[in-house]
Amino acid sequence: MDDLTCIIIGGGYAGLKALKQIQETTRGMANGRRIRFVLVDKQPGHLRKLRLFRPTTVEEEIMIPWNDLVLGEFEFVQGTVRSVDSEKKWVQYVDVQGNDAQIHYDLLVVAVGSTVRRPDTDQGGIVLTDQQSAAAIRERWHVNLRKAAEETNPEEQKRLMTIAVAGAGISGIETSAELALSMQKEAAALGLNSSNISVYLLNSHERLLSEVSEKFRRKLDQELNKCGVTVLHNRKAMREETGEVTLNNGDSLKVGLLIWMIGLIPNPALSGMGLPLTPDGQVLVDECYRVQGAPEVYSIGDCARIVDPKTDKAEQKTCFEAGLQGIRLGKIVSADLEGQLAPVHKASKSNMDVYNIGLGQKGVFWIRKWGIDMVMTGKTPGKIKKLVEDKASYLR
Ligand SMILES: Cc1cc2nc3c(=O)[nH]c(=O)nc-3n(C[C@H](O)[C@H](O)[C@H](O)COP(=O)(O)OP(=O)(O)OC[C@H]3O[C@@H](n4cnc5c(N)ncnc54)[C@H](O)[C@@H]3O)c2cc1C
Repeated sequence: MDDLTCIIIGGGYAGLKALKQIQETTRGMANGRRIRFVLVDKQPGHLRKLRLFRPTTVEEEIMIPWNDLVLGEFEFVQGTVRSVDSEKKWVQYVDVQGNDAQIHYDLLVVAVGSTVRRPDTDQGGIVLTDQQSAAAIRERWHVNLRKAAEETNPEEQKRLMTIAVAGAGISGIETSAELALSMQKEAAALGLNSSNISVYLLNSHERLLSEVSEKFRRKLDQELNKCGVTVLHNRKAMREETGEVTLNNGDSLKVGLLIWMIGLIPNPALSGMGLPLTPDGQVLVDECYRVQGAPEVYSIGDCARIVDPKTDKAEQKTCFEAGLQGIRLGKIVSADLEGQLAPVHKASKSNMDVYNIGLGQKGVFWIRKWGIDMVMTGKTPGKIKKLVEDKASYLR
């Protein structure tokens, strides 16, 4: 009998988890047919988005070749998917040579994720989107500090030693802490006064992370402060021009660099894929991640609009949620193949809140369950964070 082809588009955290879980729950077989797994991704390796802040301070490889991941057997096709023909069951893509190509599927998982929201081009600064922009950020502050070491004007020296990070989500928090700690080290090595390093984190809301407890928030504020990060609440960057960031209240900050980290939007490529989308561009799925009107097509992760049918709560764009969806998708696909009742989506944080934020080598871990509100700081949360990240990326 012919193999049954299961294609996963996108080898981010959601796609990798889906691949692994479908392999495990089906044991590679469906109704006596072997399942052939094919991963299609536009990149030559898995991009560890959770580690994107690292190359802003050190040369660290965060793109892992597919063969280096601990996953079962699968074929890899490098290509940028343009569309899905859900009637004829073809995935159309452009290969690395730029040629149009297509591949037939029996089962399809769409996990093409999200992209970073960009400000207008005339708003200045650098947007942290990928390894290249991370390297550009690293290069810029290194050059600035070297200039600062030669600078005789104290005001200009201070400006060169200052960075503003616009956007205080988890990634903005982690990036600003990483930058502050690394810049202080480098400043000291260059003979500069490291206490003159200023990293401003611009938070457009009144408080950090609206959904966490006061206890955790207080601790996080303290720990950020220890790292040398100054959080400015209710402040948005409007633009950066010749080293000056204008803020929404009319104030301004003199900076050597502005970094934009203002959130994620669904992958714009989805608009041409021929799948049903919400008005803001996420794939429409039912409570079992099945794409509406497209049999045998599923979608999870940042690119899908997933709602808990009991609470109406929509999933956030996080690696944590993407991973849990991947686990459930394995069970759903296996049940669908066997004609059994499939499990339905349930909000991941319905009975437990958990956060782990890395601040340099250290971190702040928070868990709230059964009325317990526990916060842990220090090296252990930092180590746990790294372990979880390595596991989510299926590193050896
Ligand atoms: C800087 C940053 C920091 C973050 N920090 C955290 C954090 O601390 N904690 C947390 O939980 N979440 C964090 N997130 C969010 C987290 O990274 C995402 O929620 C997670 O990556 C979603 O996984 P995904 O697999 O759905 O999508 P992605 O990780 O975006 O993966 C999508 C995959 O699809 C591929 N792809 C895209 N388009 C195509 C196409 N047309 N054809 C073929 N392949 C395609 C991409 O190459 C990629 O491999 C952060 C995000 C960023 C950007």
